[in-house]
Amino acid sequence: MSPGRRALAALLACGLAASSAAASPAATVAAHTWTGVRTPHLEVITDAPRTVAMRVALRLETLHQSLARLLPSLVVAASPVQVIVFRDASLAQAYAPTWRGLQDEVAGFSHAGPDRRRVVFADDEGRTPSVAQHEYVHSLLDVACPDVPLWLNEGLAEYFSTFEMRDGGRRMLLGTPIRRHDALLRGRLLPLPDLFAIGRDSKAYTREGVERDLLYAQSWALVHYARHRGPGGLAALESLAR
Ligand SMILES: [Zn+2]
Repeated sequence: MSPGRRALAALLACGLAASSAAASPAATVAAHTWTGVRTPHLEVITDAPRTVAMRVALRLETLHQSLARLLPSLVVAASPVQVIVFRDASLAQAYAPTWRGLQDEVAGFSHAGPDRRRVVFADDEGRTPSVAQHEYVHSLLDVACPDVPLWLNEGLAEYFSTFEMRDGGRRMLLGTPIRRHDALLRGRLLPLPDLFAIGRDSKAYTREGVERDLLYAQSWALVHYARHRGPGGLAALESLAR
């Protein structure tokens, strides 16, 4: 199957109906020229230039291999994740998930289908690394810890969204503060029982608003604290997740 057909089949397999806001999104997907890059743990498909697929594949494969050393129990053997990178944000948005008929702006999403796991987002030079890494961590947790609490799932995804390699891959940079989370948390916090009670069907998660922003920010802060509070931080996170 060509990369173009694979991309279209993958989007249909996500069970996501494209919204009517975009004209014939399926026809547009089929008409675009798609290219693919494979690594041991990923298949990246894009209608952007091949350099985009190579950049995303290198970034996510490096994250995968780093997490396999850092948090081995959260990275289990599974079939490669399919990563679909749109060059056009409005086309990506046409496939964004809906909840009870409502669709909001999402930078990307991950989907665990019956055949394989997928990550979908639009390429945006400034946002791609963090969005790709956030969604990829979800795809790892989907198989390693399918019952992980939502706050921890989002907290781990946010924490590793800032992952960077330095010195030609010899050094990992983890824990870079996320300024928007830091600023938000200085004004308001959710009581912890409320945070831990938020589930996938909760309005606080499915609707845009300050509660959802707080969920991401506070979950990130808890993971950041657990990771950096001293020795044993990673082990504590692994045991919490499992
Ligand atoms: Zn997420």
